[in-house]
Amino acid sequence: MEEKILEMAIIGAGPAGLTAAIYGARGGLDTAVFAGPAAGGQLLMTMDIENFPGFANPISGFDLMTKVLTQAKRLGAQIINENVREIEVSSNLFTIRAGQKDYKTKTIIIATGAQARWLGLPSESKLMGKGISGCATCDGFFYKGKEVAVIGGGDTAAEDALFLTKFATKVYMIHRRDQLRAAFLLQQKIKSNPKIEMIYDHVVEEFLGENKVEGAILKNVKTGDKKTLNASAFFVAIGHTPNTEIFKGKVKLDNEGYVEVNANFETSVEGIYAAGDVCDRIYKQAIVAAGSGCMAAMNAIKHLENK
Ligand code: NAP
Repeated sequence: MEEKILEMAIIGAGPAGLTAAIYGARGGLDTAVFAGPAAGGQLLMTMDIENFPGFANPISGFDLMTKVLTQAKRLGAQIINENVREIEVSSNLFTIRAGQKDYKTKTIIIATGAQARWLGLPSESKLMGKGISGCATCDGFFYKGKEVAVIGGGDTAAEDALFLTKFATKVYMIHRRDQLRAAFLLQQKIKSNPKIEMIYDHVVEEFLGENKVEGAILKNVKTGDKKTLNASAFFVAIGHTPNTEIFKGKVKLDNEGYVEVNANFETSVEGIYAAGDVCDRIYKQAIVAAGSGCMAAMNAIKHLENK
């Protein structure tokens, strides 16, 4: 039997990938999404989303992405629960190697998103999963009645700190500057929450503990003074790195590893597009990712029509 050729292969199933799938399938293309083991992307770890239009009340990331996935499937997108190992770039037809199979496709949309960044301390790797976590939504529950800390000053850190107050008796927020980066509304919530104590101008030098975290040595970046903070868990929320390992040498990446795209979401290779956090150094919002997924898909459809 002759191998079927896909018209649009989308790698990644967060808001960018699944929106591209909705537009691809609805545009009549033979569309497949390589979703890995679970579709949804980073939003699966977000508790309450208040800024995605259309939801008057907060919706969980899981519920939102379940709806988008259902919508993409209903419109005819095929969901393949495999991780992509490699892509082969040629002038006309691309190959995607995923699981035990190779898939041929006329266009690709890269929508692999980004993942949480770590501090890179030896004690961080040693105590990972033993009180050091990158996911407050996943692990916060285990620290009921304890004192915990969040590292970072962005939206993720602020949301994590607020979420952790549901369980912890006290949440320290350790930030390397004297001003938060988080959105104004989140900052207001942080300031008015009596369980949250800000520790500005400090970085973690090392985590303390052998088999589980017991605290951390903090350094004041302005004075150089050091102090010990005792806490049962530390949640690292210091930003993200794009998931582009498999695209190195295939499409052009910038110096931080983001896929370079033009205003049409075209990469350096004709027929390959990128959308969402994998090419977004600035906004990193679900709605922006969804919008760019739409634009990438519409441009891919046009590209095929003009071929
Ligand atoms: P982010 O905005 O890049 O913030 C990272 C924070 O970590 C910054 O405060 C940064 O400090 C700090 N940081 C970075 N490297 C560090 C290091 N090595 N040591 C100590 N601190 C370090 O990342 P994010 O909070 O994950 O947010 C990413 C994007 O997602 C943002 O665009 C955000 O708006 C969006 N987001 C939105 C929502 C929402 O709207 N509900 C929720 C989560 C995330 P500096 O401030 O000094 O740079």
